[in-house]
Amino acid sequence: MKQNNMIKTVRGSLLNATDKYLKLPQDDLRTKMEMCPLCSNPGKRVLQVTVSTHVYPEDWKLLFDGFRFCSDTICQMIYYNNATETYFLKSEIKTKFGLKEENDPKPICYCLSVLEEDIRYEIMKKNCCDSLQDIEEYTKAGTGKWCLTTNPSGKCCRDYLGDVVDKFLKMKESAGVKPLLRKVKQDLEEMPPEKQVSLSVKGMTCNSCVTHVSSVIEKMGGKDISVSLEKEAAVFLLPTITKPDEVAVALTESGYESNVVDQARKK
Ligand SMILES: [Zn+2]
Repeated sequence: MKQNNMIKTVRGSLLNATDKYLKLPQDDLRTKMEMCPLCSNPGKRVLQVTVSTHVYPEDWKLLFDGFRFCSDTICQMIYYNNATETYFLKSEIKTKFGLKEENDPKPICYCLSVLEEDIRYEIMKKNCCDSLQDIEEYTKAGTGKWCLTTNPSGKCCRDYLGDVVDKFLKMKESAGVKPLLRKVKQDLEEMPPEKQVSLSVKGMTCNSCVTHVSSVIEKMGGKDISVSLEKEAAVFLLPTITKPDEVAVALTESGYESNVVDQARKK
């Protein structure tokens, strides 16, 4: 039997409401409507069109104006309407809300289908992103326009994307993952490159190919670059931290078949 200190969810779970919620004065209706009875945090209003997209069709008859979304990451509640005493736990709707999930997959951006693990991969594994802007660029997260219905919160994931990115940046820092290549490059600016490298470079047909090849080498940390269309070759200085093979692979991948011809420690 439901007691006064309990709420009943749409699938019949009986859960204790917090003291804070229960002790709200009767006349403070506004706070009472805002507050999630399971975690006491104020939830944001969600439109019916949002709620109806994520709950099961059999529950549509329970939908009235005034639903709120609980964004607390450890609270089980997802949608609640204190006026009509209608409560949906996260396990009682169709869509998973990534921030409330413990296990993968954890959807973050619904419009572009970006999962938390995608963001983790870009930052921790691939080590190519170190800001919110990078993540937006690489994964396209936060660039959709259909959040009102695709995202269970009814809002754009940009509201919390920054927190997700920060979490992994901190994790990366504490795990001691090496900084990005371009940062290594900055650090090495004062140190002289130590190797002279010769590569064969096939497939260049014009000066813009030459420019392209040079820019790839430069991005990999090369200096004093000389690229010859006629000799199908590139000669440059490379910091010891970068292997000449890696430059050859980068060139080959950008369409110019390349091999290491010679590498010598610079005197
Ligand atoms: Zn809550």
